Amino acid sequence: MKKITNDEAIALLQQIMRIKTVGKDESKVADILAAKMQPLVDAGLATMERLPYAPGRDNLIIVAGPKDAPTKLGIDGHMDVVAAGDPAKWSHAPFGAEIVDGTLFGRGATDMKAGLVAAFVALYNLLVSGTTLNSELHFFATVGEEVDNYGARQLAAAGYNAGLSGLIVCEPSGPQIEPTTRGIIDYTVTATGKAAHSSTPEDGANAIAGLFAYNAAAAVQTETLTSQVDPMLGHATHSITLINGGNQVNIIPETASLRGNIRTTPLADNAAFTAALEAAVTEASGKVPGVSLTLSIDSTLPSVGSPSDNRLVQTIQKVRTAQGLAEAPVVGGTGICDAALLLTPGMDMAEYGPGNDSSHQTDESIAIADFTQAIDSYEHIFAEY
Ligand SMILES: [Zn+2]
Repeated sequence: MKKITNDEAIALLQQIMRIKTVGKDESKVADILAAKMQPLVDAGLATMERLPYAPGRDNLIIVAGPKDAPTKLGIDGHMDVVAAGDPAKWSHAPFGAEIVDGTLFGRGATDMKAGLVAAFVALYNLLVSGTTLNSELHFFATVGEEVDNYGARQLAAAGYNAGLSGLIVCEPSGPQIEPTTRGIIDYTVTATGKAAHSSTPEDGANAIAGLFAYNAAAAVQTETLTSQVDPMLGHATHSITLINGGNQVNIIPETASLRGNIRTTPLADNAAFTAALEAAVTEASGKVPGVSLTLSIDSTLPSVGSPSDNRLVQTIQKVRTAQGLAEAPVVGGTGICDAALLLTPGMDMAEYGPGNDSSHQTDESIAIADFTQAIDSYEHIFAEY
């Protein structure tokens, strides 16, 4: 068996980018990766397993390397992508995987089929070449990351992350390493009052006034949390992002609701914010007679991470130095990734992968050189961790 060449890896990436995995059909990607890996499984170099999430949506798990290794490295990449939006706005077909002057265009180029395929090829090449591995390697190709990390949630619930010493998430990080990410809370506040003619508002109870009272109370209740500065992640943030209410300009509104989004840090965590929101709802409920407010937490994921000098970060820096690259800045990640589900206390973490800032945008792209460089880097990182 031979190593996958860079040209073959580019063709594999193109093939996978042409599969429209917008919240479905991740199994088609898993099928391609599994077929490629099968000869190595037959040769006893790896084991492979699928964890189905829904029809056509299988997570793929590949385990390889020394069973008795003192450390285990998790390698994570998601197979789904976000929608392309209006294809007419793209200069290249969003699912065409066209290459122009060394740049590959298409949905998922940066986020994150390049990272996924680079990690897969690195793993394959390490196994074929018989390189000594310091850790057992656990490769996870997940479904539904872009919606609510469905695949990682399922893998964690089934214990696939148990016993990992480190986790590398191959999301596009640019030339930096992210050992930590902020958490998230999405919530809804619903206000219920009483309708009345707006010429006699005293006969009703204005639900929108209840939301205004909530907004004022929430600003006060969250102030100590949003003012805390985490050394890696900066401030936690709270934003009200959706609002709905009322039917007509001359009717006192009976119902109104708003939704908010919070990005949390270890210093201002999900439990503290949830308590602050509950206090704000209680406070606001007493402010507008006849209006009652309820809070629903729609989704919540904690901030996760490990120290900025963890062993995985050190391994990546060592590999960069050996490749003649500058030491990468180590910074906090602002987005959510599968690590929010897969990381457990004490596990080394690094979000580190090829890509640029075109994630989720029209004409998403990746430089071919970034992709092939990542294959080489991952080979060294996976072997040395
Ligand atoms: Zn992603």
